[in-house]
Amino acid sequence: MRDVIVIGAGASGMMAAIMAARRGKRVLILERQHACGIKLKATGGGRCNLTNTLNSSEFMSRFGKSGRFMSEALKVLDHHKLITFFEQLGVKTHSPDGYRVFPVTHNAQSILDALVLELTNLNIEILCSQNVLKIETIQKRVAAVYSNGRCYPAKSVVVSTGGAGYQKLGGNCSGYDLLRSLKHTVTDLHPAMLALKVKERWVNKCRADTLGSVQIKIDLKKRKSIATGDLIFTKSGIRGPVVLDISREITPLLSKYQEIPILIKALKDIDRDALEHHLRLDPSSTILESLSKLLPKSLCSALLQEIELDSSKSYTQLSVKNRTKLSEIFCLIPLTIIGDGGFENAMVTRGGVKLKEIDPTTMQSRVVDGLYLCGEVVDLDGPCGGYNLQFAFASGALVGASL
Ligand SMILES: Cc1cc2nc3c(=O)[nH]c(=O)nc-3n(C[C@H](O)[C@H](O)[C@H](O)COP(=O)(O)OP(=O)(O)OC[C@H]3O[C@@H](n4cnc5c(N)ncnc54)[C@H](O)[C@@H]3O)c2cc1C
Repeated sequence: MRDVIVIGAGASGMMAAIMAARRGKRVLILERQHACGIKLKATGGGRCNLTNTLNSSEFMSRFGKSGRFMSEALKVLDHHKLITFFEQLGVKTHSPDGYRVFPVTHNAQSILDALVLELTNLNIEILCSQNVLKIETIQKRVAAVYSNGRCYPAKSVVVSTGGAGYQKLGGNCSGYDLLRSLKHTVTDLHPAMLALKVKERWVNKCRADTLGSVQIKIDLKKRKSIATGDLIFTKSGIRGPVVLDISREITPLLSKYQEIPILIKALKDIDRDALEHHLRLDPSSTILESLSKLLPKSLCSALLQEIELDSSKSYTQLSVKNRTKLSEIFCLIPLTIIGDGGFENAMVTRGGVKLKEIDPTTMQSRVVDGLYLCGEVVDLDGPCGGYNLQFAFASGALVGASL
């Protein structure tokens, strides 16, 4: 009988297996795909933004109210310890912007290779193409795992099956199903970190236009969520880092309301007065020429059309009413979110196994003895910037240390 069976060889599962084996446990990993870490290899656009440089309390706060759940996990493996962990495996990391951390190779394969080599050095047994569909319990304690028609008895079982997003990289719901069958509660699941569709057709005219460092705010009462970062217009919507971040707040709302109004502050440090001052600076220029010094021309043109202003007029030729309309739309661009790309395009899943059912000091289930959970399968998700991998590694390390 193995001491530990780890279901899922992603970031959290591999880390849990390594930490357990380093403490002398006999570990077997069962992985659904043909190889370990397929999703990990695709992270950060293939560069793997494995963590960031925020201190633990700042880091946890970015996960929202539940963020403090991971404080024990971060004590075991915060970003300093994670960086040292990989350094000891021969992978140097760096942070070109002082915030996001990548391997110096800028290749996620280096991270994956280091983990797989360590699994091998520790004699961890790995079986791929194994779709685990059942965990057997006896008197509320794990007893065995069933995969591809075989039974694997185990003293402890780790569920590190990840989220439902990006099915082509292995995302699926089988982990949630396994845990539901053991009487765990899984909260509503929503796609997160993905592009969004908008109602306004004019975005099509601005396709591929990029706006640097914009602020997006959800324009609903009692919703204070704001995200900042670069935005790119698509044929029928918006994408880019700021959209990935705000999408995790918007997709749960889309299941309640059909339309979610948002406001985009695209002009950094320019309020209505400053905009008016800018437009008055050169009275001989058309409003399109003046505005195009601040924002992409196609966007200025589309917005002027939206408010039915003649772009060839100068600012001084506009009526007071039209000047107000112009400054309103350019200072806060309104858009209406009407959809998302679904789980097949979601980098992360919002929702998961209820945190109340997991002991945060060990990551052990409070429902079944000997059952441990780590990574995205639990109800925690962070924004863009190395948060989700850091949590996956840290929670995996805590499991490995607790087994
Ligand atoms: C394209 C993309 C880019 C991303 N970039 C970043 C980034 O740069 N930084 C960051 O912090 N986060 C990033 N993320 C998010 C991050 O990859 C995940 O949050 C993280 O991988 C979660 O780790 P995990 O171990 O919980 O799950 P995963 O890494 O998804 O691993 C779960 C594993 O379990 C296996 N599995 C599932 N069900 C079963 C079953 N029934 N039986 C056996 N095995 C099973 C899966 O095949 C998979 O290998 C990105 C995600 C995507 C999709």
